[in-house]
Amino acid sequence: MPATVDALLPLSFLEAVRGIDAPRDDAETEYVAELRNKRLGLSEPIYAQIRRYTQAARRSERTSYAEAVALARLIGRRTDAAAVFVTAGQHLARQAYATLSPVMRRTILLLPSLLARPLALRQARRLSKRFLNARITRIGSSLRLDVPDPVTLDAAPEERGCAYYESVLRELIRLLVGDATSIEHIRCVSRGESVCEWRADWRPLSRRARRTASAA
Ligand SMILES: [Zn+2]
Repeated sequence: MPATVDALLPLSFLEAVRGIDAPRDDAETEYVAELRNKRLGLSEPIYAQIRRYTQAARRSERTSYAEAVALARLIGRRTDAAAVFVTAGQHLARQAYATLSPVMRRTILLLPSLLARPLALRQARRLSKRFLNARITRIGSSLRLDVPDPVTLDAAPEERGCAYYESVLRELIRLLVGDATSIEHIRCVSRGESVCEWRADWRPLSRRARRTASAA
C-alpha cells in the first residue's frame, strides 16, 4: 500500500464536491449560510483543506494516502457518490494533463496518429504513475490500466468507488488522443482480485478529430 498520493488526487475529490454543492440560483445563494451546515462541499473546513492541497500541489508535494482514503469514504456515504466520483475523475485527468508542457501537448495533437500514439502512451503512463499510483500498458490496440491500491476501495458499496479511476482513464484518453470507446472494468479488488484493471479502446483518430476533441 503506498504511503502517499499526489496532492491533486484528494484535491480532485474536494473540487468535485464543491462544484456539485455550489448554490444553483439566487434563492439558494440567500440561504448559503444555512446550506453550509448541511452540505459538506460548502463548509469552512473543506475550503481550508482545498487551500492546503492546492498549495501542496503547487509545490509538487505528496500527501497522505490514508487521508485520501478517508475523504473517499466521506464521499461514498453521499447518495450522489457515483456522480461525485465521475466528476472528480475528470477533474484529476484535466489537472494531470495540464502538467504536460504546452510543447508536448501540441506535438501530440499535430503529429500523425502513428507517431502521436507512442508519445501519448508514454505520457499517459507517466501521469497515471504519478497521479494514480497506477500502471498503464498497451495490449494490441487497447490500453490496460492497473490500480493495485485504489483509494476508493471500501468507499462505497460494491464497485461504485471504481468509477473514479474509470473516469480518469476516459478523460485522459479523450485529452490525449481524442476518444475512448468502450472501457471495461475487467478485474476488481472489491471482488477479492489482486488489482483493479480496466481495458480501454485506444483507437487512433485523425489529426483534425483529435484537435476538435481536445478543444472541446
Ligand atoms: Zn474496481
